[in-house]
Amino acid sequence: MRIEEGIKLGFKDVLIRPKRSVLKSRSEVNLIRSFNFRYSKYIWSGIPLIASNMDTIGTFSIAKVLSNFHVLTAIHKHYELTCWKNFISTASKNLLNYIMVSTGISDIDYEKLKKIFSLSSSLNYICIDVANGYSERFLDFVKRVRNDFPEKIICAGNVVTGEMVEELILSGADIVKVGIGSGSVCTTRSKTGVGYPQLSAVIECADAAHGLNGQIISDGGCINSGDIAKAFGAAADFVMLGGIFSGHNECEGVIVKKDNKKFMLFYGMSSHYAMKLHIGKIESYKTDEGKVVQVLLKGTVKNTIMDILGGLRSSCTYVGARNIKELTKRTTFIRVLEQENKIFNLQ
Ligand code: 5GP
Repeated sequence: MRIEEGIKLGFKDVLIRPKRSVLKSRSEVNLIRSFNFRYSKYIWSGIPLIASNMDTIGTFSIAKVLSNFHVLTAIHKHYELTCWKNFISTASKNLLNYIMVSTGISDIDYEKLKKIFSLSSSLNYICIDVANGYSERFLDFVKRVRNDFPEKIICAGNVVTGEMVEELILSGADIVKVGIGSGSVCTTRSKTGVGYPQLSAVIECADAAHGLNGQIISDGGCINSGDIAKAFGAAADFVMLGGIFSGHNECEGVIVKKDNKKFMLFYGMSSHYAMKLHIGKIESYKTDEGKVVQVLLKGTVKNTIMDILGGLRSSCTYVGARNIKELTKRTTFIRVLEQENKIFNLQ
């Protein structure tokens, strides 16, 4: 047994220090960024936010709205091929530019992925997603996908440490997804004792990825646009969001009524609820690592994304950054023991 003494930080442990700036207005900030990748030759431009590939969040309806804002959606892996056919037959090239196709690592998942990609050459992103990205089998799968899809942008995760980020990039990933236990409906930390505070995971993993011309996605733990700015400040290239996008009209969650109010179910993809829904059972050797919550209906996701983008532009002006790359360069974090004033949250 060994103890690492250096303290690891989460978003709640820091704030971004304001800096002098020559920017006159938030309208001068451009959140669109262009990326070159280590393997794929495709140059992608857009706002590097991603709706998570959870089955109530990574929906075709969410993608249709977010693509208008140049934001990505990782479509969840549970849509049938016929749903994909319908979607692609009506989707513009612009919409497909903001789509990631998610897959697990089983043979059935892989067959479906290949069929989805045979439907359109305008699909660019593959998101290989497992709860625990530390297995040999996962690395072998990433190698296989890189071999079969040399031109596509491959994201793979999740991991939280630099050595595994390097291993994944060397195995063929352009982008590594970072985050274990930080999600809003995740119970991994209490069930297993495993995890890594998200801000430190991002700082360490971004450093490892950038040294190999790779990128990272900060996945999980953002509860507001301030946290998203902190993730970019910590050098995340992309930020993935689940809970923030939950409970909207475009989510495909079950609606329940309580005290004359409408709520939508939002749940972890490893929750008992999701496993029953998609697999029909939980194997006797497994436990759930996600929870189910009821979210008050929030209306259209358009308002939420506009609010997030407005917040990010404001973060940039506070440090004098014209774009997200400059936000990273100009970020100095201060460690804090307080965040916002909560007096009116107690009511
Ligand atoms: P959020 O933005 O809601 O804080 O985090 C979203 C992320 O939580 C997802 O993108 C995914 O990585 C993670 N996640 C989703 N469902 C589960 C789950 O059931 N268990 C765990 N451990 N993580 C989950």
